Amino acid sequence: MNPTSGKRVLLAKPRGYCAGVDRAVETVEKALETYGPPVYVRKEIVHNKHVVETLRERGAIFVDQTDEVPEGALVVFSAHGVSPAVHQEAAERNLRTIDATCPLVTKVHNEARRYAKQDYDILLIGHEGHEEVEGTAGEAPEHVQLVDTAEDVDKVVVRDPSKVIWLSQTTLSVDETMERVDQLKARFPNLLAPPSDDICYATQNRQVAVKTMAPECDLVLVVGSTNSSNSKRLVEVALQAGAKASYLIDFAHEAQESWLDGVETVGVTSGASVPDNLVMDLLAWLAERGYADVHEVTTANEKIMFSLPPELRRSLKTG
Ligand code: SF4
Repeated sequence: MNPTSGKRVLLAKPRGYCAGVDRAVETVEKALETYGPPVYVRKEIVHNKHVVETLRERGAIFVDQTDEVPEGALVVFSAHGVSPAVHQEAAERNLRTIDATCPLVTKVHNEARRYAKQDYDILLIGHEGHEEVEGTAGEAPEHVQLVDTAEDVDKVVVRDPSKVIWLSQTTLSVDETMERVDQLKARFPNLLAPPSDDICYATQNRQVAVKTMAPECDLVLVVGSTNSSNSKRLVEVALQAGAKASYLIDFAHEAQESWLDGVETVGVTSGASVPDNLVMDLLAWLAERGYADVHEVTTANEKIMFSLPPELRRSLKTG
């Protein structure tokens, strides 16, 4: 019998880079080309070790806070967005800024501002400590309460139960978020929903693709970094949808031989901040172990693209 018979790989599509990540990475690349290094970047431009390392080698300097950037230098804000306080700090230090916040994160910021202006209590569903949540909450700190766990739902206190809206981080599990919304609705029947989905198209599409293939998989490998919210959610979604096991790895060499014991079908996907060459490395690693038969499972074709930040486009035009 052929020792590899029955072994196959299901490869999720869509996977990997979303439009917001593509734009953010290109922003730093173009800034390095246009202005020359060093280009400072506040926080990881996107949550992926490989991407950050590659840009660092090309002259990007990653800092945690704007006060680490020398006066007058150029700083790029990451795809996850920043609060108005960070913009203000940058202005006070005379920093030149390029804002690579994903337009879909900006959309949630705008919603937070709009409903705060109308004096709503805003219940922001998201993960405590995540940069995106800090940025969105910072738009209206007086009006926003973070709801992360089911226990947080009980702790919410609002001024007027008829003026409450929920918003969310863009990279959450769709199912888990709806659970949280149901719990909130049980407490606040008049709870308003965001005018359009806050969980972005890329997060949703990657979850749908994983959900579709996971029931057939003995193992699902997700390429992504441990600080990447949407990547971590893909592991959870795979397990909930029926995969027998699922692991998150940054690089192919982190995969363990023992995970393949008794495994016929391996599902492969990647988070929205992962370049596809890392997925190709994993497919090569699997092929060396008999999993060379790869079938793509396509659940959507993404065509969304975002133009570069206006401050960079202006320089490119005049440069
Ligand atoms: S995951 Fe969604 S919100 Fe985040 S950068 Fe990508 S498209 Fe934008």
